[in-house]
Amino acid sequence: MRALTVAPGIANSARVEDVADPPASDGAIVVRTLALGVCGTDREIVCGHFGLAPPGETRLVIGHESLGVVQEAPPDCGVRAGDHVVGIVRRPDPVPCASCAIGEWDMCRNGRYTERGIKERHGFGSQFFRIEPEFVVKVDASLGATGVLLEPASVVAKAWDHTERIGRRARAWQPKTLLVTGAGPVGLLAALMGAQRGLEVHVLDHHEHRTKRELIHRLGGSYHVGTLADVRLKPDIVMECSGAPGVVRDVLGSTAASGIVCLIGITEPGYGFDVDLGALNRAMVLDNSTVFGTVNANRLHYDIAGEVLRRADKTWLEAMITRHERIEQWTRSLQRHPDDIKVIVDFS
Ligand code: BGC
Repeated sequence: MRALTVAPGIANSARVEDVADPPASDGAIVVRTLALGVCGTDREIVCGHFGLAPPGETRLVIGHESLGVVQEAPPDCGVRAGDHVVGIVRRPDPVPCASCAIGEWDMCRNGRYTERGIKERHGFGSQFFRIEPEFVVKVDASLGATGVLLEPASVVAKAWDHTERIGRRARAWQPKTLLVTGAGPVGLLAALMGAQRGLEVHVLDHHEHRTKRELIHRLGGSYHVGTLADVRLKPDIVMECSGAPGVVRDVLGSTAASGIVCLIGITEPGYGFDVDLGALNRAMVLDNSTVFGTVNANRLHYDIAGEVLRRADKTWLEAMITRHERIEQWTRSLQRHPDDIKVIVDFS
């Protein structure tokens, strides 16, 4: 079968090649891939900055934002032939740590977790993949190709879950305003979930993008272009989805009292800034502010994300998918075009 592969650690090693069918040890469910979403993590892997091949191998089948249709499944496993499904990305560490032992692999304590298409496990970027019943999630077939948004939506659903759990430390916490920094797919999904909660939604982008502006307006939100200073807002919640070091610096200490800054975007090391830590600490302590980071998602978050997508306007979700590339040209999906939001590789 055809697969999208890379040699992690080696820049520009991406290719399409024939690989053996997935081994039975990957799981009892056989899935035919329909589409694969491409994100910043995939670009980092292809640049050689991130990712690990399975032990003893040099190449990794890439792809963690999956959508497929079940071909074969054991009886009573929760899905059956014809169902549309998405694969959960992370697997618990082998110890397992206290978090992985209770199904919260997204909170792994020892870093020995594995991730499909990212860390030591082949991903979903092949014509077929196998998966274990515990790690498959059924998606509403009426979502069509937008079902591929389930994985990034699960990451955002976790960010919301943790933000709200932190918020509840104050019994009277009732957030009103949300600022999302970064208007990529993760930022847009964060805004969607904010709008579904009835919040006043603001999204800060670094340059004008007509479709993104429209998508935010359709949520009833405000779309801003520029820097945080241009927004003039003291939000209750900031969801930092850009991963841009300068934006990360700006959002620290930027909230209203009891505010929460949730960091979702991943940055590269090597950016130093002058920050008045005295002022920042003082503001955070006196305002009971929180800054926290969040990554990945467990099964609960995939289920919440499925509900989020089901409740969303389907045409809104469709507008997020701006480009489809064929398997043989998948490396084109890694190039950034000015109009892009989510680019998917079409396996159908
Ligand atoms: C994925 C997560 C993963 C993270 C770090 C993200 O792109 O969506 O599932 O945990 O990368 O590897």
